[in-house]
Order: sequence, then structure tokens, then C-alpha cells
Amino acid sequence: MSKNKSSESVKVVVRCRPLNRKEESNGPAGCIVQMDLRLGQVILRNPRASSSEPMKTFTFDAVYDANSKQRDLYDESVRPLIDSVLAGFNGTIFAYGQTGTGKTYTMQGAWLDPEKRGVIPNAFDHIFTHISRSQSDKQYLVRASYLEIYLEEVRDLLDPNHGSARALELRESPDSGVYVRDLTSCVCKSIKEIEEVMNVGNQARAVGATDMNEHSSRSHALFLITVECSQPGPDGRKHIRVGRLNLVDLAGSERQAKTGVQGERLKEAAKINLSLSALGNVISALADGRSGHVPYRDSKLTRLLQDSLGGNAKTVMVATLGPAPQHYDETLTTLRYANRAKNIQNQPRVNEDPKDALLREFQNEIARLRAQLNHRKWRSKQKKEEQVDGEGWERDGEEETEGEEEGEEVEKEAEEYVKLEEQRLEREKEAIREDQFLLAEEKQRLLGEKERMMGDLRKEQEATEQLTAKYKAMESKLLVGGKNIMDHTNEQQKMLEMKRHEIAEQSRSEREIQQQVLAQDEETLELRETFTSLQQEVEAKTKKLKKLYAKLQCIKAEIQDVNDEHVRSRQELEQTQNELTRELKFKYLIIENFIPPEEKNKIMNRLTFDPEEDQWKFQPLVAAESKSSQMKKRPASAVGYKRPISQFARVAIKMGTNSRYRAENIMFLELDMTPPNTASLDHQSHSVDSSPTKDRGVRKSRSWCQPPKSIASSSSNVSLSSCHAATPMAAQ
Ligand code: ADP
Ligand code: MG
Repeated sequence: MSKNKSSESVKVVVRCRPLNRKEESNGPAGCIVQMDLRLGQVILRNPRASSSEPMKTFTFDAVYDANSKQRDLYDESVRPLIDSVLAGFNGTIFAYGQTGTGKTYTMQGAWLDPEKRGVIPNAFDHIFTHISRSQSDKQYLVRASYLEIYLEEVRDLLDPNHGSARALELRESPDSGVYVRDLTSCVCKSIKEIEEVMNVGNQARAVGATDMNEHSSRSHALFLITVECSQPGPDGRKHIRVGRLNLVDLAGSERQAKTGVQGERLKEAAKINLSLSALGNVISALADGRSGHVPYRDSKLTRLLQDSLGGNAKTVMVATLGPAPQHYDETLTTLRYANRAKNIQNQPRVNEDPKDALLREFQNEIARLRAQLNHRKWRSKQKKEEQVDGEGWERDGEEETEGEEEGEEVEKEAEEYVKLEEQRLEREKEAIREDQFLLAEEKQRLLGEKERMMGDLRKEQEATEQLTAKYKAMESKLLVGGKNIMDHTNEQQKMLEMKRHEIAEQSRSEREIQQQVLAQDEETLELRETFTSLQQEVEAKTKKLKKLYAKLQCIKAEIQDVNDEHVRSRQELEQTQNELTRELKFKYLIIENFIPPEEKNKIMNRLTFDPEEDQWKFQPLVAAESKSSQMKKRPASAVGYKRPISQFARVAIKMGTNSRYRAENIMFLELDMTPPNTASLDHQSHSVDSSPTKDRGVRKSRSWCQPPKSIASSSSNVSLSSCHAATPMAAQ
């Protein structure tokens, strides 16, 4: 990716956790990771190699060893990013590393111990403290969402029906890029509220999992915070800046152990860690810079992080390492991965006045509610002025004030008005009751009228109260800056933080300078060298040769390593492919031998692949639009009727004798009580014209509505007999 003025590279920091108790007890093999904090270097020792083999050195933006504090990592590497988010940039922090190396510890940490709070709780503090300290002409809206990607499915962790809910879909819009459709988003007004959101999500995550360790090592957790800030610009209009922050705890980067379970294997191979390997491919493609195509669309994770890698965002990657010798391979892979990510260039820019800012909607809604309340106030004032007696209402309306005060003012005046009105109506009612000149009926009517008026008044008041409550609820969602700015302790704390911030800034720039000096040193060494004698020159050059030779060996070893890794991963892929082919053959065997070809073809023809959801789907049998028209069309036998109807039933309707089964395809047959005539077998001799009921032992059937004769003569004769056979019979 070409560098341009506004581009900046992904910041990569590495953190190594301390040896745990089990690793310590394993003996003196000790730690394979050394760190140079001043230079930002990680030096990795291969426990299996001979001592003469050079160690591998990697340089990063910052490194944090086993003694590092959560706070140090935050102040140095995360704070600047959160500041950018508050200024309207998109920001992403993701933790990458093998399971058990401290990704969750770094991102979340131990919430209850202030020393061990991780990036996420510190970011909460940072955001809300910043808001409370900002100027009072700024309005903020903070929202949070929490999701996880497990087996390539996006799940909403804030959805109360998390367990049973369907996986969410990813969508893309020109304004906000890739987003998750129907994702819950909670407006948070304080640190406590956003912590609550985090807790709810964490619980949902734990509940859904049968084995939490296994689950968390295979799923990616994304906590998303959107900070919208509105501030009057030089043009006098309010401008909105939107910063989106993604806090990502990735799945464990280790190679998945093979379960060997048949069937499950297929599912695993098809889904597990697809996101992680896709992330690797995206990073490689971006770091390489030569390949034009970046495979973002290969997985859910890479689509969601599209902006963070090579897009409009500032990104920090925290790669976590374990120090134990048995994890050498994984540690080396992580370091290589992190090293590649350093080369990714992003083009962050401030998101100014985006179309989908929720803050704008809220502001408009609040303005609308305020206008409604003002209108009510004005109406009640009008009514008050219309009153003839006007007693008890001397106070004149004051000048309109802004915001909260105004809301309260309106409320107070409305209450006062209602109270006075009620008193007036009570008095009038009393007067009517005591009036002796009025008739009882007239009194009743007048009292009823007053009651109604009071009812109306109460309804009106209720409506106003509801409106006020809604107004207040909406307004409370917006955070206004500058509330505690005069707070003294706050001021001191602010100073302290600023100092810490400065120190962090200083140590960062110091490290950068050191790294630059080191790089320059190597380049300019020969320029400065002047030799007094040949001997000296030989010595110096031999030294240099040795140095370069060591470097060459390092690179050779690196190439060998990379080759080995390629061979290993190719073998693994081949193995997976073999297993998948075997599985496929098995499925084919079943299809070819146990599913009729026409059924198979039917299914095949209806299947289409949906790349959006990465799934095969059945096409509906009938196209949606023609379905409705088909529903409307009636079969030819039922024109004008409720349902298809036999000729016989039609005739029956026309006859109209019995309304009970009118329009039913039911025929009524009379019970034939004559015993079957079994004696006369010589029926051949009988004339064909002779009555069948008597001579042939055929049961006489007759409709309830037609005498047999008319049936015989009627044109419905044929259909009647066919109907007889086809329809259920009801004997009478
Ligand atoms: P991951 O999320 O990468 O699987 P965890 O964050 O769960 O790993 O860490 C595994 C264990 O190591 C936890 O018990 C955690 O407390 C501990 N740990 C990780 N990093 C550190 C650290 N920097 N300092 C102290 N303990 C750590
Ligand atoms: Mg974890």
C-alpha cells in the first residue's frame, strides 16, 4: 500500500506474561523471551538449538515484559488511540496470541483490582472522564454493543435470548461501511452503565458455552463503543463527530488440536479459525503491498475489521507471548505475525457529520418534544388569560429560558395551572349545588358537565406529564460536558494524569529515537571509518565481515524456518483435504445409492449459494410474486362458489329443499331395507328394462332432494354416479 500524507502504520506492541507456577516448577530451563524495553526489542531463544545459534530479534513500537503494569501499557500505547476516538477517528485495539498468554488479561484484566484493570475498563474511565471535563457546549452520546464470532456465526451478547437467537448478518452501507444488522446497541450515560453492559455480555458468553476455556479460545469477542460528539463550529452550526472504537479479544492463535471426531471434523475444518486464518491472509496481503486483492470477504472477522486494517482507522495490535520453552514455535509464529502487521498502512480521518449519526436524531427529537411542551404551555397560558375571574394567577410568564430550566418551568406552570383550574371547578360545583333556584335536573346536568371538564383537565395533565417524562428521558441520554470542571480533586487528578501522559509520551519518543539511532548507526558506520594502517583496516573489516556473516546466518535460519513452516502447513492442508475428500466420497455414496435421481435433481436445481451468508439455500418452489396471484385464482369448478363443487351439489343448491348440507359435495342415500335377492341367479333371462331395485338386488339409492325418476331423467345422471363413488356418503 502506498504511503500518503495522512497514512499511518498499525502500531504493534508485544507483551510477555510472567511464568506461571507450573512452568516455574518445570525446572531451570526458564524463560525463552528477553525484552529490551528501551529499544522496543524482543529477543527469542530457541530452546532446542545449540548455544552458538544466534537469537532472533524483533523490533516493535513498544514491548512490555513480565513486570509491566496494566497502567503502563494503557498510558503509553492505548491512551493516544482513545483520545483520537474522542476526536472522531475510528480506533481498534486487538489482542492476538496463543491461548493462555494474557489476551483477556490485557483487554479486561481483574476488574476489582485497580492495578489490574485492563484496556477496556481503563478506556471506560478515560471516555467518561473526558466527557465530564470537556466544555459545556459539547454534547455527547455514547453507545455500546458486544458481540462474538463463534464457528463463523455472529452472535449478539446483549440480546436477552442470546442462546436461542439466530446468528446475525453482516451488511454493508456506503456511509458506515460493514455493520451487523439488528445488533443491540445500548446508550450508556456513565461508567457504571457501560460496565453493566460489559457484565451482561460476559455472562451471556459464559452461559452459552459448555466449556468456557474451549469456547473463549475459539471465539472472537468484539466490544464496540461509539462516541458521538456535537459541538458548535465556527459557522455557528452544530457539527457532529463520530468515533468508533473496537475492542477485540481474538481467539487463541495456536493451531487447533485435531479432535478426530468424524463428521465434527468436517464442520471444524469448514469453520474453525477460518476468521483467524483469513485475518492472517489479510495482514499478509496488506503488509506485502504487492498483491492488489485483499481477501477481506473471506471471513466475518476480516469483514468487520476491514476498516481497521488498511482502512479508515487507527489500529493498535497487542501480541501476547508466553515465556515457556515448550511454546517456542507458537511464540515465534506470533512474533512473525506481529512483525508483518507493522507494515500495514491505514488512512485514518475524522468522521465529520456522517448521515447516520444518532446524536442528530436525538437532538431533533428533543427539539420536537420541547416545541410540543412549549405549545402546551402557551395553550394553558391562553386559557388562563381567557378566564374572566382570573383570580389567584397574578404571576406573569417569564422570559423563555433554555434547556433543563425551561423544561422545569413548563412543568411547574402546567401544574400550577391545573391546580387552579381544579379549585375553580370545585368552587363552581359547590356553587351549583348550593343554588336553590336551579331545578334538580338542571343541577345534575351542570354538575356532570363540570365533572367532564375536570376529567378533561386531568387527561390533559397526564399527557403533559408523559411528554415531560419523555423529554427528560431523551435529554438525560445526552451527556453534556463541563459538569464537574470546578471540582478541586478532579483538577488535581487531571494534573496527575497529564504528567503521566507526558512521561509516557516521552518514553515513547525516546524509544523511537533510540531505534532510529541504531538503524542509522549500521548504515553510516563505514562512512565515518578512516584507517590509519592496513592492519587496522583488516581488523575492522574482519569484524564487520563477522557481523555481516552472523546476519547472513540469521537470515538463512529465518528462510529455513519459513520453509519448514510452509512445508508443515502444506502437509496439514493436504491432510485436511484428504479427510474432506473422504467425507465427500461418503456423502456421494449415500446420495448416489439411496436417493432417487429425480429427487436429487429436484434438490440440486433448487439449491443456490448465498455468498452473503456463506450458505447453500433452497429457492422457494414458487416465485413470491406469482404465489399471491395463484392464491387468488379459483379452479374452474368453483367459479362463484366457496370451494370446488360437484354437479350434484349444484343441482341440490338450485333445488333448495334442504339447507343443511347445501353446497356440500355430499349425497344422501336412502337405506335399502330389502334383503339381497340371492335366489335368482338366472338374471340373464330378465329383461334389461325391468326395475333394477327389485330384481337385481342392487341397493336403491336416492338423493334427499330428488326422486329417483328425476335423477334418471336429469342430465346430472353421470356426474351423480361418479360423485357417488368419489364423495363421502351420509346415510339417512
Ligand atoms: P488468554 O485470554 O490469552 O487465553 P488469559 O488472559 O486468560 O489468556 O491469561 C491466562 C492466565 O495468565 C490468567 O490467569 C492471567 O491472570 C495470567 N496472566 C496473563 N498475563 C498476565 C500478566 N501480564 N501478568 C500477570 N498475570 C498474567
Ligand atoms: Mg481469553
